[in-house]
Amino acid sequence: MKRAVVCGAGGFVAGHLVKRLRRDGYWVRAVDIVARPYGPSAADEYLELDLRDLLACEQALRVDDGVDEVYQLAADMGGMGFIDSAECEIMRNNALINLNMIDAAVRSRVGRYFFSSSVCIYRDMAVGEAALTEADAYPALPDNEYGWEKLYAERTAQAYGRRFGLPVRIARFQNCYGPEGTWTGGREKAPAAICRKVAEAPDGGTIDVWGDGTAVRSYIYVDDLVEGIVATTTSDLEGPMNIGSSQYVSVDELVATVTGVAGKRLATNHVDGPVGVRSRNFSHARVESLGWVARHSLRDGIEKTYPWIAEEVRRATTVV
Ligand code: NAD
Repeated sequence: MKRAVVCGAGGFVAGHLVKRLRRDGYWVRAVDIVARPYGPSAADEYLELDLRDLLACEQALRVDDGVDEVYQLAADMGGMGFIDSAECEIMRNNALINLNMIDAAVRSRVGRYFFSSSVCIYRDMAVGEAALTEADAYPALPDNEYGWEKLYAERTAQAYGRRFGLPVRIARFQNCYGPEGTWTGGREKAPAAICRKVAEAPDGGTIDVWGDGTAVRSYIYVDDLVEGIVATTTSDLEGPMNIGSSQYVSVDELVATVTGVAGKRLATNHVDGPVGVRSRNFSHARVESLGWVARHSLRDGIEKTYPWIAEEVRRATTVV
């Protein structure tokens, strides 16, 4: 039986990853700074630890007979609203987690190390520009500090991998959505925020949307991303790997998809807000060479996500 430690398992993507690894027969230890209901409860073991601390990282990896795979997904992160307003917390907290976790991983002689990076490491793009490959990360010009920290953490993990002979695998995630993701509170990403606004609005009402609605994005459904993480980690391919959907849509098209699934007719009020980059377009040739492909269209994924968020909204607004 393989033993895995999943960091950030109280969170969205790692919570789904815990369940996936358990289904595959892994023994899984989930680690997070706070107790949350989803991933940790599916794990064999749950440790509440602050991974900014080296001793906590070492404790996370102390397992009888050793750890085969570490999945490092812990991060102080959120959507554009959070990335725009919490630069110092993002730079400090995430650098500490990532520096200490890879250091603890080599000290603990783990078998393999996965790091969750982001396409935020890439520069802004013009609409219609040709797809960027992984090598196009350089010369580097990320749009925000979150992207700069991810790039530094990628390089740190790779340097440790080279020096200590630790197989390191890195995936650059595109914007991910699905059930059990953050949907309120200021850290939610665009798909969850739009689902929440649509769920809260009465039929025939109006929702506010940041920006002019023309920014181009792609959104990956969480089950597809988790399959990509597993494919990346277990592969022999070194170097970062873009993982995302190749279906690119404008923010207005995202809104139309959500309202279509909700069966509501809503007007959109475009308001000022932190929009981020203008456009995205990435090559997925590397990860697709492993036989992986995103299986959910945006409509498929929203059909699974919207009902979950609508139910959360209903529960949060129901007076007991
Ligand atoms: P999330 O916020 O749902 O999960 C991150 C988890 O890390 C949270 O549960 C949080 O409590 C935990 N954490 C934060 N600080 C910690 C600390 N000091 N010690 C221990 N745990 C700590 O985020 P997510 O959406 O699941 O993202 C997972 C990873 O994927 C992150 O590294 C993120 O940067 C990366 N990523 C996500 C997306 C996306 O669209 N969701 C896109 C690109 C990259």
